[in-house]
Amino acid sequence: MPYPRLEIDLAKIEHNTALIVRICREHGVRVMGVTKVCCGEHRVARAMLRGGVERIADSRVENLLKIRRAGIRVPLYLLRLPMKSQAAEVVEAADGSLNSELDVIRVLGAEASRRSRKHKVILMIDLGDLREGIWSDAAPDKVKGATPRAVKGPVDAALEAARVPGIELEGIGTNLTCFGGVCPTPENLGRLVQIAESLGERLGRPPETVSGGNSSSLLLAQAGRLPRGITELRIGEGIMLGRETVERRPIPGAHLDAFRLIAEVIEVKDKPSVPAGEIGEDAFGRNPAFPDRGIRRRAIAALGRQDAVLEGLTPEPSGIEVLGGSSDHLLLDVTDSPTPIRVGDRISFIPGYGALLAAMTSPYVEKVYVGG
Ligand SMILES: *Cc1c(COP(=O)(O)O)cnc(C)c1O
Repeated sequence: MPYPRLEIDLAKIEHNTALIVRICREHGVRVMGVTKVCCGEHRVARAMLRGGVERIADSRVENLLKIRRAGIRVPLYLLRLPMKSQAAEVVEAADGSLNSELDVIRVLGAEASRRSRKHKVILMIDLGDLREGIWSDAAPDKVKGATPRAVKGPVDAALEAARVPGIELEGIGTNLTCFGGVCPTPENLGRLVQIAESLGERLGRPPETVSGGNSSSLLLAQAGRLPRGITELRIGEGIMLGRETVERRPIPGAHLDAFRLIAEVIEVKDKPSVPAGEIGEDAFGRNPAFPDRGIRRRAIAALGRQDAVLEGLTPEPSGIEVLGGSSDHLLLDVTDSPTPIRVGDRISFIPGYGALLAAMTSPYVEKVYVGG
């Protein structure tokens, strides 16, 4: 069995999905399962569907096509704003997409019409995080220069999108805690609901979907503080890693080890904790600093930046500390390990989101599916 290896436990992913779906359902909220950290792996999508999600979303058209080709028939959504140049592929691969540019929506509509179809659009509203979406101050009275346009702008844009031939305006949505680190609150999500209500009045029917964000909205959902009117959350990390993403607190009852990255030890030696010689830049152009802890037992595992984000790895066994690493080497302090670490041993790590993303996309990491 080759190493490094990423073990993906489908039963744990299903369990975490079911747990989150139950929490959301109690508050009348659906869950869209987000597969992007798993490269649109159909086995992961299936585990999410068994856990109760009704629709699947991914940030890449290629991943949605993989899911479709695997025979999965539920509605598929593209999360990243579509590239104009990719409109035809988007309409082929996805039933709908998140959007913020009318120009692109028109091209999507034309491609859908050519296929005698409707492409569903969830119009993104920026409530302050400064990633995608039509700007709407979450608290216009508190922001210098803000005006009632905060509601009018998004509603007008949505009405215009609804008039584009080939497009079905499914609703509106927002994305928080991604670029600006802005947390979802009853106030900013309340503004999203307010925009949805004004839009509903103008359309003569409430929008079908009010998409209230990603795993960072789970904390509010758990506390029963999601504003009424949010109909759906788009959840990836919460399902995969079992934590909400504002404070990264475990969701009670969730598995935190659905993914394990396992690496093999290739050297174990006792060495000083401070390098000997003149110190220049390391392999990545940084000037490292080392606390002097005397002679320590160090291990090298065959795992590097080509496989994972090394800072995002938590060793599972106790008494092991990640010191750092380079493209192909992970340096560990194993002095305090209760069982002696030897060459050839395998050490398992729980990856954080960045480390998981890197491991999933690295061709050097063997993916092994268990619990399916
Ligand atoms: C990635 C992404 C999500 C899912 O985020 P998680 O934090 O993994 O739950 C939701 N919406 C959009 C637009 C995304 O890009």
